Amino acid sequence: MAKFVLIGSGLAGGLLAAYLGRRGHEVDLYERRADPREGNIVGGRSINLAISTRGIHALEQIGIADEALRHAIPMRGRMIHDKSGALHFSPYDVDPRKCINSIGRAALNTTVIEAAQRYPSVRVYFTHRCTDVDLDSAAAHFETVNGAVTARGDAIIGVDGAFSAVRKSMQRDIANFQYDESYLAHGYKELTIPPALDGSWQMEKNVLHIWPRKSFMMIALPNPDGSFTCTLFWEFEGPRSFTTTKTDDDVRRFFEEEFPDAVPLMPTLLEDFRNNQTGSLVTIRCAPWFYRDKVCLVGDAAHAVVPFYGQGMNAAFEDCVVLDECLQKVPHNRQRAFAEYFRRRKENADALADLAIGNFIEMRDKTASKTFRAIQKLDHALESALPGVYLPLYTMVTFTRMPYAMAAKRARVQDRIVYMGLIAFLTLAIVAFAVLVQAHLTPTKP
Ligand SMILES: Cc1cc2nc3c(=O)[nH]c(=O)nc-3n(C[C@H](O)[C@H](O)[C@H](O)COP(=O)(O)OP(=O)(O)OC[C@H]3O[C@@H](n4cnc5c(N)ncnc54)[C@H](O)[C@@H]3O)c2cc1C
Repeated sequence: MAKFVLIGSGLAGGLLAAYLGRRGHEVDLYERRADPREGNIVGGRSINLAISTRGIHALEQIGIADEALRHAIPMRGRMIHDKSGALHFSPYDVDPRKCINSIGRAALNTTVIEAAQRYPSVRVYFTHRCTDVDLDSAAAHFETVNGAVTARGDAIIGVDGAFSAVRKSMQRDIANFQYDESYLAHGYKELTIPPALDGSWQMEKNVLHIWPRKSFMMIALPNPDGSFTCTLFWEFEGPRSFTTTKTDDDVRRFFEEEFPDAVPLMPTLLEDFRNNQTGSLVTIRCAPWFYRDKVCLVGDAAHAVVPFYGQGMNAAFEDCVVLDECLQKVPHNRQRAFAEYFRRRKENADALADLAIGNFIEMRDKTASKTFRAIQKLDHALESALPGVYLPLYTMVTFTRMPYAMAAKRARVQDRIVYMGLIAFLTLAIVAFAVLVQAHLTPTKP
C-alpha cells in the first residue's frame, strides 16, 4: 500500500482521505486551518452550498450520504423575485422529486473529515500550512506554530483549493506547465435573512431564491436554523458597484431600489455589508494535473470554476470517485492511474467552467424574462414527451452523472434539432395556411 500526503482538508481533501483510507493506504492529511470542530469557518467561502446527484453519489460510495444529508434542505426550483416583489416559481425538473440540496459547508466538511478518521491508516494534522512541494522526492514543507516541518510520502495530492500551493510548485518546476486564471468583473458578498421570531423561515424554504437584475443578482439558500444565506453577485467597479457603494445610505438606497421585498427581512443588512468581505470569482484551468507518480491535483486546485451551476464541490467530489477508480484499476502503476484520471476529468472540468460562466448570464439576466420561462416549459414538455431521449441541459448537469462535456455536447445537438423542428413546423404551418387561403379565394365553377 502507498503512502499519500494530502494537502488541504477542505471538502474534497476530507473525502479523498476517506476513499484512500478505505483502500488501506496510509494517508497523512495536512490542513493550514485549525480543526473545524473547534469552531472555525472552513474554506472561508460560502456558508452553504447546493449538493446534487454527483456529490451525493460520491458520498454514497463511502457510506456517508445519509449522515451528510441529515440536515440538508431540498430545493425544488428557483423562486424568482421581480422588482415589484412578485414571485415566479420555476421547478428544476418535471419530476418534483428531483431537487438540489442546501447543505452547510462547515458541517459537510466535518462529516468528511470524520469519515476519513474512521480509517486507522488516516491521520489529520491541522494548522500546517504547506509552503512548498519538492516534486521529485514527493516531500511537502509546512509552516506550523512550532516551526518548519517536512512530510514525505510516495505521492503528494494537492487538494488545497483554488490558490493551491501544490499547483504553484508544479508551475515553477514542470516545463511547459499550462496555467490560466480569469477573474469575473463581479465579486460576491454574503448577507443574512435571520429566522422569524418563532424560528421559522421568513420566505418559502424549499427553493433557491433569485433576484435577477440583468447585470447582477442576489440569491438566497435556506439553512436548517431558519435563516437564509444571501449572496449578492455584483460588479466590483462601475457607476453602481461594490467600489462606489460606500456609506450605509448608499447600501440602503441600492437595496431598497433593487431588492425591496428582501430589505424588511434583513435587519443586519448594513452591518453584514460593512463587515463581510467581498470575495472574487475565479476560473482556473491548468495542465497537466499530475507529475509522474509523485504529485496529483484534485478539486479546485485543478479546476476552480465560478459557482453559478452549483457544481464546483460536486465536481471535486466526482474527481475523488474517478481517482479512486483509476488507482484501483492499475494499483501497481500510479503514474498511469494519475494520467488516466487526468484524461477522464480534464475535458469535463473545462466544459463545466464554460457552463458555469454561461449559467451566470442565465441566472442574473434571463430567468426574469417570460420568454426564458416559456423555453423552460417547452424543455420540460419535451422531457415528459420523450423520456430518456430529450434531457434539458440543467437536468443532465445536475441530476445525472453524465460527463459534463457530453452533457454540453448533447444539449447543443438537442437545441439544433428543436430549432430545426420549430422552423419545419412553422414552414409547414405557413404553407398549409397559404393553401387554405388559396383554396378559399379560388372561385368555384358555376
Ligand atoms: C460563493 C461560492 C458558492 C459556491 N457554491 C457552490 C455550490 O452551491 N455547489 C457546489 O458544488 N460548489 C459551490 N462552490 C464551489 C465549492 O466551494 C468548491 O468547488 C469546493 O469548495 C472545492 O473543494 P476543494 O476541497 O477542492 O477546495 P476547498 O474547499 O477550497 O478546500 C481547500 C482546503 O485546503 C486548505 N489549504 C489551502 N491552502 C493550503 C495550504 N497551503 N496548506 C494547507 N492547507 C491549505 C484550505 O484551508 C481548505 O481547507 C461555491 C464557491 C463559492 C466561492
